[in-house]
Amino acid sequence: MPSQKVLLIYPLLNRTKGERDYHWFPFSVLPIAKSLRELNLEPIVVDRRVEPESIETIKGHLQDSLMVGISALSGYQITDGLHVAKIIRGLRPDVPIVWGGWHSTILPEETAQDSCVDVAVAGRGEDAIKDIARSYLGAKGLGSIKGIAFSDDKEVRFTGYRETKQFVDDVRGYDDFIDVKRYINPKTMAIGYFSGHGCSFKCGFCSRHFMTNKYSPKPIERVMDELAYYITKYGFKHIHFQDDNLFLDIRRVIELSKAIVNADHDVSWWANVR
Ligand code: SF4
Repeated sequence: MPSQKVLLIYPLLNRTKGERDYHWFPFSVLPIAKSLRELNLEPIVVDRRVEPESIETIKGHLQDSLMVGISALSGYQITDGLHVAKIIRGLRPDVPIVWGGWHSTILPEETAQDSCVDVAVAGRGEDAIKDIARSYLGAKGLGSIKGIAFSDDKEVRFTGYRETKQFVDDVRGYDDFIDVKRYINPKTMAIGYFSGHGCSFKCGFCSRHFMTNKYSPKPIERVMDELAYYITKYGFKHIHFQDDNLFLDIRRVIELSKAIVNADHDVSWWANVR
């Protein structure tokens, strides 16, 4: 029996398609795809930024889908996500739509009020999505799942944030789900990469602590193995570290810098310093 599919949609970030000539990998949905594959489901990642035919792709997979996931930052990505969700509702009103990403994390109850939202995930979704999938496969009700908001008898229930844990996903499987060539800008040959997640500070104006307040750095050896995989396979020449706070541990940054030089990959790198 073929496995059931789960569409994972990364909506447009901007109103004008093609206004940017470079796109980072859809980092918010790729770890979710890996989690779902552990349940023998078939994740289908649809990145609206790089797939002009994305609506046709979604329609093509919808018939065999257990549920749909949509990831959105606050802003235009919600508008585009709702546009896609309405198409899905029109074609398959029985397929649950699960929203995740920054907006759902910060405002889970408000997100769950929309008629195009069945479940809003708050925080990192690698574990929550497996519980949600099991629920829709008939294992248990949504009410026992931590870290989600959903409508229950016309009232929105929020089950509370999950306890944060360290997430250091290995990115080497990501190219099973996306066509990496669509993300390569020949002018920059840059790859976006997280060598770790989180930040141990809790600045009041910063959104990071909604996702996790644990600093989860990958071991430098692992970082170099993951980067070597993409540099060797796809020819990237520049690394854009997108860590929440790469310079939190300056000794680790020095170790990382030396490892990059010693690896002799002929790459440059860039990161924000806070
Ligand atoms: S990432 Fe920067 S702004 Fe956010 S909590 Fe850490 S130090 Fe503060």
